[in-house]
Amino acid sequence: MANRSILILDDDAAAAQTIQWMAESLGFEAEFVTRPDEFFLRLEQKSFDIITIDLVMPKLDGVEIMRLLAERETRAKIVISSGMDSKVLEAAQRSALEHGLSILGVISKPISKESLRLLVGDGSECDQLPWVEKQSAYGELFEITPLDLQNALDRHEFILAYQPKIECKSGLTVGFEALVRWKHPDRGIVMPDVFIPVAENVGLIDALTEQIFEQSLEWFSQFFPQSIPQLSLNISAKSLVDIQMADDLSALCSRYRIAPECVVLELTETSAMVDPILSLALLTRLRLKGFQLSIDDFGTGFSSMVQLVRLPFSEIKVDKSFVMQAQNSSEARSVIKSIIDLGHSLGLLVTAEGVENFKTLDYLNSLGCDLAQGYFIARPMTGEAARNWVKQRKQGISA
Ligand code: C2E
Ligand code: CA
Ligand code: CA
Repeated sequence: MANRSILILDDDAAAAQTIQWMAESLGFEAEFVTRPDEFFLRLEQKSFDIITIDLVMPKLDGVEIMRLLAERETRAKIVISSGMDSKVLEAAQRSALEHGLSILGVISKPISKESLRLLVGDGSECDQLPWVEKQSAYGELFEITPLDLQNALDRHEFILAYQPKIECKSGLTVGFEALVRWKHPDRGIVMPDVFIPVAENVGLIDALTEQIFEQSLEWFSQFFPQSIPQLSLNISAKSLVDIQMADDLSALCSRYRIAPECVVLELTETSAMVDPILSLALLTRLRLKGFQLSIDDFGTGFSSMVQLVRLPFSEIKVDKSFVMQAQNSSEARSVIKSIIDLGHSLGLLVTAEGVENFKTLDYLNSLGCDLAQGYFIARPMTGEAARNWVKQRKQGISA
């Protein structure tokens, strides 16, 4: 089996030479070029397993090179190298991924042999790097057909996990969010990110939502008619096409003797609404009937400012990607603070999700954030465990 090959592009010949030597000592067949024209010429002559690209070059920068590589549908795995700060490196990596390139990772200059080896492995390995394979296997592993989902619905294989939401100031439990899981007969528990998009695409999301609503309202009515004020339910923006839904949900609430005011509908991907005009009418009807409405994952591309102003929300949920970074990123802290202030200035309750440690909870409280949710408080759990959790906390607080 031939050794794997690597092509290095760096305008600094000395730096390029150093990387070449390191790669050769790892067992690669390595060569370098210092100019973009040489680089593309070489790629036409030979296919390489790995390409390393310097981000900052005088003629054509690394980001532009990667765009051109994407246009050529390059199959080589790419390593981005640079002396720039990590934020720029990360942005370059994201940009390359969004262009559909296969990125092994970024590496800061000056490059050490060990950091190179961690990214590219050994040149003599004929296998691909394990995590690259895992990533590509993911799709096949979870290939779900409409029939699979229909069967799962018929067999009632969808179950719910509940994650508590507390008040930052007092620590009191204010509610639970219902999160769906698929209890698959062969694969075990399958997470929603895997099957919700499929359900949305094959037109089964409404049937799934109906089952979830019914199951969770039944659970909520049994255990928490008075003591826990809120049940949060996720609703796909693609489901907002049936004006009748407001009446159906009201009827379900009265069947279980739950006041609509206790139910919070969390809406993500507001940009994916099929019919924005109908959605606005439907959401307004839901609010008129007393339901609460929350804009989920706020701050990500999916929940936009335009929708925040246009739709009748009562709550804003700060996306967990910011909250989880609160301890190590001042940028994340600025975003969190701005969202809390924005929410309050619009008269909304603010919930932060993804609270993973005490320091973050304390920080959120100091900013005046109303509610918090996250692994630090509790992981999502079965309905039974959630009931015990409430009991224990009550005892803990009164003891
Ligand atoms: P989401 O609505 O943003 O739900 C929060 C996700 O964050 C949940 O993942 C939860 O388990 C996870 N999480 C909570 N606290 C923490 C934390 O401290 N750290 C970290 N790293 N993660 C935390 P899950 O259960 O995998 O759900 C993923 C997404 O699937 C949900 O994101 C929601 O968009 C969707 N989803 C879940 N249940 C339903 C449903 O019944 N209907 C619809 N349409 N979508 C659902
Ligand atoms: Ca949610
Ligand atoms: Ca969320």
